[in-house]
Amino acid sequence: MTLPTQLTAVPGTDSLSLWNPKGAGRWGYANCIWVISGPDAAVIDTPYDGPMTEAMIAAAEPLLGGRTVRTVVNTHANGDHTFGNYLFPDAEIIATRAGHEHLHREPTPQQMHALVHQSPPDAPLGRYVREHFGGFDFSSARLVPPTWTFSGRHTFAVGETEVELHEVGPAHHVGDLVARIGDVVCTGDVFFHGDHPSHWVGPLQNVIDACELVLGFNPRVVIPGHGRPTDQAGLEAHLVYLRTVQREVRLRFEGGLTAEKAMEDLARREFYPDLGLPERLAILISMEYSHLDGRATAPTVLELADRAATWSYR
Ligand SMILES: [Zn+2]
Repeated sequence: MTLPTQLTAVPGTDSLSLWNPKGAGRWGYANCIWVISGPDAAVIDTPYDGPMTEAMIAAAEPLLGGRTVRTVVNTHANGDHTFGNYLFPDAEIIATRAGHEHLHREPTPQQMHALVHQSPPDAPLGRYVREHFGGFDFSSARLVPPTWTFSGRHTFAVGETEVELHEVGPAHHVGDLVARIGDVVCTGDVFFHGDHPSHWVGPLQNVIDACELVLGFNPRVVIPGHGRPTDQAGLEAHLVYLRTVQREVRLRFEGGLTAEKAMEDLARREFYPDLGLPERLAILISMEYSHLDGRATAPTVLELADRAATWSYR
């Protein structure tokens, strides 16, 4: 994977730049958005490992011009948005309270390292994590939790630029937030552009509600958690996808199909074949089924990942 060596200016803004590692079809390559304004700098989400974060900081250096990053925002607690926090030692790290409270249930970088290198290589999950996560170097990262949390809404300034944070979780994850900066909205992982999404918490209706809230801001630019930036039409197209998944899963649940059979049935129909990582549908279906049948205990991230891995090698 070639990482970007420069930040890309977000068109029509003078303070926003994007580090977009173009990871379509792959896990873990999330967008990070830089806000550089007046004497101040902030970054929304940090990359998955130390080398990636160092590469991003080097790419930002010409624009930073000696400024220190004083604020890091984590859109949610997944490692591909937080593991790089440790390379911003002077920053306030902002997340939602709900996301912070859930943090102890997220795999640490050391646990990810162990999962990639010590899980049985012949089992589907072991093979899948080696294939999709083996290129990351989790050994040097350490978990740095938020230093400041909020619920609902929080606004802060970066130089002359105002950043509005809106809590939208539980949706993709427990404590999702979206960031609105003028007419640009950074959605975090309630929106994946170009791949089937992986949503860990749900239900899908909450993800749909989050995307509708973003559209309600009437944004000119929508920056997804993963994939290319787009506009309202791009997000509207994704909403059609989400509503279709929601409807198709419900139909199969009400028809008495198991989650596995529902997956087989959808895959047979070549459901959205242009999107990458179709095995993630197994995660969406399992997650949605756990809401539809009112299960008290939702499947864990590892159980969900195991279902995607098992499906991917069938
Ligand atoms: Zn992500």
